[in-house]
Amino acid sequence: MPPTNHHRYIVGVDLGGTNIVVGAMPEDGSRQIALRSEPTHAEDGADGVVERIARMVEEVIEVTMAETGAARDDFVGVGIGAPGPLDREAGVVVVAPNLGWRNFPLRERLVGRVGLPATLDNDANCATVGEWWVGAAKGGRNVIGITIGTGIGGGLILNGQLYHGASDVAGEIGHTTIDSTGRRCKCGNYGCLEAYCSGPAIAERAREALFGAEDGASILTRLAGGRQDRITAQTVYEASQQGDPIARDVVRETARLLGAGIANLLNVFNPDVVVVAGGVTQAGDALFEPLRAEVRRRAFQPAVDACRIVPGTLPGSAGVVGAVATFKAQMESHGRGTRHEGRAPTVDGSGLVR
Ligand SMILES: [Zn+2]
Repeated sequence: MPPTNHHRYIVGVDLGGTNIVVGAMPEDGSRQIALRSEPTHAEDGADGVVERIARMVEEVIEVTMAETGAARDDFVGVGIGAPGPLDREAGVVVVAPNLGWRNFPLRERLVGRVGLPATLDNDANCATVGEWWVGAAKGGRNVIGITIGTGIGGGLILNGQLYHGASDVAGEIGHTTIDSTGRRCKCGNYGCLEAYCSGPAIAERAREALFGAEDGASILTRLAGGRQDRITAQTVYEASQQGDPIARDVVRETARLLGAGIANLLNVFNPDVVVVAGGVTQAGDALFEPLRAEVRRRAFQPAVDACRIVPGTLPGSAGVVGAVATFKAQMESHGRGTRHEGRAPTVDGSGLVR
């Protein structure tokens, strides 16, 4: 018989091209347990990656049981966030260039390995849901999440629900056009937001700015150990904080471009929160203040007045937290797969979980 303060637990998996992050949460979202990260080693192939995820899930379950006194039966399932495009219903990763996968049935394979029901959703959707559930966008009803790292991912929560669109593509904010004749993007299009404001794109713009500058005009190269090719977005933020004029210009330009992209989103969706997460938040107010100013210049006043634009507050774990929350929400909306009949998770208007 379960004890009176009985919790059920959900394991979250955030699968990326570089790292796999796994952790557990009680279904009320009150805390994160046993969070761990390991290199993905995509070169081992899909089977190797599934094996690694399964082992990490098993470790997280064991550590959580030890820490909380939970029993194995208290673990109701696994939420997985993975790079898209995905077929969510089928649990299939359709194409993942960073993993070298095509039409891989990730959900089924992991269910077979860990013996728990599982859900699959886009990693950026998961990160947005994580910030909405327990992070910076908590309490929002119309929330846009933008995650800036190697690429730019996005997620849309509209009227209190994660919005997937007609074929699970919704939220690809990184591949909206901000300059129709602009830089070529990895997706094949020109002028995408990602081609300017992803971490590597920010570093690239800094290198270009150095090209025309006099020797000694910037500390960027010195901060990168004397090698321009080692300048990263982090180097740019650090140099900017130390007052470097070229780095400051790059950060201001990043704010201007992101601000234009976010102003578009305000005029289309009229959100109450835009949460910007990922490495770019390290730039702090030097980025967020001019970004908000740019949005004010471009978007309709009532949309600006209704919206707060904030940095994410779950660095490193938003994807896992959101994977847990999407498991809960998807199991409830599909009404299948839970092993505790009559106690399915519920979704309410203000967020995901009660
Ligand atoms: Zn693109």
